[in-house]
Amino acid sequence: MNRLLSRVLGRRRVSLTTLLTLLVLVSTVFSSLILLAATYQSKKQSLINATLTINASNSEKMAFTMSRLFRSMEETLKSAASGIGREPADNEVIRRHLELARSSSGHFNSLVLINTEGVIQAAAPINLKAEGSKVPLLIQQTAAVQLLEPFVSRPLFSPLAERLIVYMSYPVYDKNGIYAGAVGGSIYLDQDNVLSLLFGAGRERDGSYSYVVGTEGELLFYPDNKRLGTSAGEGELIQRLKNLQSGQMKTLDPDGQEVLAGYSSVQANGWGIVVVSPMSLVYEQLNGSIRDELKSMILPYALLAAAVVWCARRLVRPLVLLANLVGRIGDEHLEVPGRRVHLIREADLLARALRVAIRNVRRQREELTHAAMTDPLTGLVNRRVMEASMEQWMDLQIPFSLIALDVDKFKDINDAYGHQTGDAVLQLVAGRMSSMVRPGDICCRYGGEEFVILLRGTGGTEAYEVAERIRRSIGESKDGQAVPVTVSQGIAEYPLHAETGDELFRQADAALYSAKDAGRNRTVRAGTDF
Ligand code: GH3
Ligand code: MG
Ligand code: MG
Repeated sequence: MNRLLSRVLGRRRVSLTTLLTLLVLVSTVFSSLILLAATYQSKKQSLINATLTINASNSEKMAFTMSRLFRSMEETLKSAASGIGREPADNEVIRRHLELARSSSGHFNSLVLINTEGVIQAAAPINLKAEGSKVPLLIQQTAAVQLLEPFVSRPLFSPLAERLIVYMSYPVYDKNGIYAGAVGGSIYLDQDNVLSLLFGAGRERDGSYSYVVGTEGELLFYPDNKRLGTSAGEGELIQRLKNLQSGQMKTLDPDGQEVLAGYSSVQANGWGIVVVSPMSLVYEQLNGSIRDELKSMILPYALLAAAVVWCARRLVRPLVLLANLVGRIGDEHLEVPGRRVHLIREADLLARALRVAIRNVRRQREELTHAAMTDPLTGLVNRRVMEASMEQWMDLQIPFSLIALDVDKFKDINDAYGHQTGDAVLQLVAGRMSSMVRPGDICCRYGGEEFVILLRGTGGTEAYEVAERIRRSIGESKDGQAVPVTVSQGIAEYPLHAETGDELFRQADAALYSAKDAGRNRTVRAGTDF
């Protein structure tokens, strides 16, 4: 996960707010997508099922209507046949019979009377070219005439009508019951006909459409006229229709398009009615509804995102503040954060840890500062502090005196009483020195058994007095002090004897050596012999 994130984000640092926001949004978007995908699937299935059911029920209704229509078409032919057969009549009368049957029923585009020789005796509407011609409807029709039975043909091309037709015929018997020919009715497949009256112009507005399949699987009615009479294919659907079955299925239409089909066979003549909706229709509806759903999600998502950003910022704010504090942990003026209770447990823990850390750092710094400034044996400030103070005073041009103090024959003390006693002597000297000076003055262990005292704002004479007081105090043997200790001192004044610290120290040191030379246990001022 880490690697993935760093790959996505490169080497850039990401704020926790951004990360939290991203995390929440990405997981929300993902879960919504999963939900959307599930909705899509179930919607698709229910749409498919609903479409199949509607198409199946429509095809069933149409097949039922078709069946009734077919029966009534037979009736039309039958009544024309019986009207014509009742008494012999001339062509004019027969034509009138035919025309009446044609126009009153509206079932056929044309009607003819065919005599026993298979010659068209009369036609309606009147077609002199047809009348007198031998029925060109080839074998089937002749067979039908001979069969003396009601007959319906497959789609045929009629040279007389010069178009594709379906032909139905009904035998004519005269009043003696002798076969006298047949009344034939043609449906012009490529024109407005009884089928188009029933099934509409072709495609519905939503893209659904119906077609009619003959008993051999030929198209009798199809939105595209060019396909009329051709095979509807050899698919499962056509097989089922040939077996006079009804039902619904997902299949390919005669144009090879994926469709949801409801199919039903017509009881009266074995034709098949198919009602189909292209699958693209289902996808269109699905996409539309998903689009609507997405649109309705935009506002809630925007609000959610704003809320997440707001929350993330609130959550992260204490961490940022604490991080800033950590960055300034060494800062002297840093205030220890108060005991504020944070909402996030981790932030609270961090704040507590930080309080402890800041206090520790502060204590350690104080300890280190103290250690860096003082001499552990005597507790006096060390040479570094002394030099810094001297420089500061010089910068501020504060006059002062410097006393260099050295314990006399200290080596002998060490040798005679031991090193520990030597240390005790050094502590004693330091204590006496400190007790003799004012608070603004500085007592420093310069190194070994050498000390320096800076007397702020003090001239040579006064300094000499202080030095002598110190010397005497050290020299006086007090209770429990078995070792006789004396010190020698040299005094130099700023700015009288030198302008720099080094030079001032050198002057005082020279005076100290004069004191040593003069026999020790005394104080000498620079530039003088005492
Ligand atoms: P002088 O009167 O000429 O100053 O003689 P001195 O013996 O005091 O001088 P010297 O410089 O010869 O000896 C200084 C001695 O101080 C040497 C060293 O062993 C001792 N010393 C330096 N620092 C310490 C310390 O911290 N503790 C102890 N016990 N002795 C120390
Ligand atoms: Mg010395
Ligand atoms: Mg000494």
